[in-house]
Amino acid sequence: MRRGLSAAMQKPDKLLFTPGPLTTSLSVKEAMLRDLGSRDEEFIALVRSVRERLLRFAGVSQARGFEAVLMQGSGTFGVESVISSVLPEHGKLLVLVNGAYCERIVQMATRLKIPVGTIRCAENETHEPAALESALQRDAAITHVCAVHCETTTGVLNPIADFGRLVGAAGRTYIVDAMSSFGAIPIDVEGAGIDFLISSANKCIEGVPGFAFVIARRAALEASAGRARSLSLDLLAQWQGLEKTGQFRFTPPTHALLAFGQALKELDDEGGVAGRNARYTANHRVIARGMAEMGFRAYVPTARQAPIITAFHYPAHPNFRFDEFYRWLSDKGLVIYPGKLSQADCFRIGNIGRLYEKDMLALLGSIREALHALDVPIPVT
Ligand SMILES: *Cc1c(COP(=O)(O)O)cnc(C)c1O
Repeated sequence: MRRGLSAAMQKPDKLLFTPGPLTTSLSVKEAMLRDLGSRDEEFIALVRSVRERLLRFAGVSQARGFEAVLMQGSGTFGVESVISSVLPEHGKLLVLVNGAYCERIVQMATRLKIPVGTIRCAENETHEPAALESALQRDAAITHVCAVHCETTTGVLNPIADFGRLVGAAGRTYIVDAMSSFGAIPIDVEGAGIDFLISSANKCIEGVPGFAFVIARRAALEASAGRARSLSLDLLAQWQGLEKTGQFRFTPPTHALLAFGQALKELDDEGGVAGRNARYTANHRVIARGMAEMGFRAYVPTARQAPIITAFHYPAHPNFRFDEFYRWLSDKGLVIYPGKLSQADCFRIGNIGRLYEKDMLALLGSIREALHALDVPIPVT
């Protein structure tokens, strides 16, 4: 598998064991070697096809009342587009918090002066559905509930379908941040009663950064008329623009869309969501086993761990210094990710993007060497 070459160095790009941007295929990068005008028929056809294919990967369709809306910016812009566009003036958002990305949604609502409530649990745990049920019974002011599917902070997988049934039964609107799961973990959008699902181009679909997308139930989207608090992030206006002219309202990320079109084709070629899930699961297993063999402890219990990104506790040994460990691996062309946890010293290893078991094994080999170089003892197994 050829990767990109950095022009100055003439050596392969580093492998990114991160939650995005990710290592992408050369063919995805090559798809960007075009300059398309935003009103070009070819570009408009590409946008239409991308929107159709997103609905297909979400297991829904326009005929079943769903729409795909593309929004410029990174994933956070997509989430903020939904939060700022769909909450009514006297609405209230309830966020199920167990990590930094849920916390960011609370910050968004606060900044937008939208009343927000939270239910919190530890970052390596998931919420009891009963806690959500009683919060909904207790507080009639709550109009919308938001959950994060794979909390990328730790890699914990939240039971969004269980939450969705309760949200739907209570007649509230359900928003899911599926940023780091969509395309690699099956999601029954309709069955889980999801009204708005948000993801982005550069995570499990393996495109390049540049835009986010929202899978929306059309009735919920239409119900948001007059609610948008932002011009550029107005979700309904964006959808209406895409429907009316096939175009974005403002400069579209043409190159990122070209890459994404190719990335969706490669997702299909791999066997769709099931095929990608199989590769990521295999990657994750190799890492989980190899790290355990070196004495690393995973932060999230296996039963709640998504095959996307894994958080590991720092080794207890005083010689372990994360910055040195990180630099050592980075010099070998292997980029891991620092922790983002509030309660424990962890680092993270992502296994998404164009990575295979051989890449995971290469990382494990280098981690062993790094520990040796840092004089951190490895338990004999
Ligand atoms: C990556 C991610 C986001 C968005 O991050 P950006 O850096 O804005 O792309 C939001 N939520 C989750 C769960 C994520 O993994």
